[in-house]
Amino acid sequence: MAAIVIEGAAAAREVYAGLKERVAQLALANVRPGLAAVLVGDNPASKIYIRNKVRACAEAGIHSEVHALAAGTSPTELVETLARLNHERDVHGILVQLPLPAHLDETLVARTVAAQKDVDGLTWQNLGALMAGHPGFEPCTPRGVMTMLDRAGISVEGRHAVVVGRSTIVGKPMALMLTSRSATVTVCHSRTVDLGAHTRRADILVAATGRAGLITAEMVKPGAAVIDVGINRSAGRIVGDVDFAGVKDVAGWITPVPGGVGPMTIAMVISNTVLAAERVAASPRAS
Ligand code: NDP
Repeated sequence: MAAIVIEGAAAAREVYAGLKERVAQLALANVRPGLAAVLVGDNPASKIYIRNKVRACAEAGIHSEVHALAAGTSPTELVETLARLNHERDVHGILVQLPLPAHLDETLVARTVAAQKDVDGLTWQNLGALMAGHPGFEPCTPRGVMTMLDRAGISVEGRHAVVVGRSTIVGKPMALMLTSRSATVTVCHSRTVDLGAHTRRADILVAATGRAGLITAEMVKPGAAVIDVGINRSAGRIVGDVDFAGVKDVAGWITPVPGGVGPMTIAMVISNTVLAAERVAASPRAS
């Protein structure tokens, strides 16, 4: 039987609809949530991602502004821009579009953005909070995945989850979130021996590698929930890490690429920005 396709775009629209009431409440307190998106250089894919985020802000009724910096921006200039945004009262969330040009170290962003405006959940404070189980801002992609699992009614507790990929922004926080929801989690990576032996044991399989079509039908347990985080360009098309055509006949649930985790990641950025504004409204002297 073909898998149930978990559509991220529809789920994201529901998130925006749900945020409207909270945005209206904030308006009563004269607070309009604002997201500052920082783009360095002119990577075409990054420009599209930024445009989608600006569009999502409009859909949720929140303010957005784009700070486009030249490809040759120095580390000092980037830090100065972020430090200025850290103090802007109208900016509740700061998002730096990754990847940065090679001469800029991404940890600069993690070390400079104020934790209370880090709506991407990438600062070390927020990653530490996630590790310790304290409230902060959770990284948007794994948070989006958890939201999709919940909306699809897929139980996590007691299940065996396999996360393929161990990056700081996706794989590791994904494993932490699944663990904190009482899944038993295996993390795989490029040095894992016999990847299929692990993935075949997964009730929930999350692929986040950037390797087009890495996960094939024979690597999937029948009935499993297969979540494809990957975004790859292949023969002029956008495809995931999962061979959708083959895996959909084995899995119980599957997310498409495009239109799966991507839209939910953006919805989580917007949701975190509204949350950041609510925290400011609840403590008016914070900036
Ligand atoms: P990274 O390149 O930082 O990490 C990739 C991970 O995959 C690494 O841990 C790597 O292992 C592992 N890996 C690579 N090849 C294999 C393999 N053959 N077998 C098993 N593991 C492998 O990528 P990101 O985590 O940043 O992103 C992963 C994918 O998700 C990309 O396609 C990216 O575009 C996409 N993405 C999508 C988002 C969305 O909103 N949908 C958001 C963010 C990312 P090792 O550590 O050993 O090198």
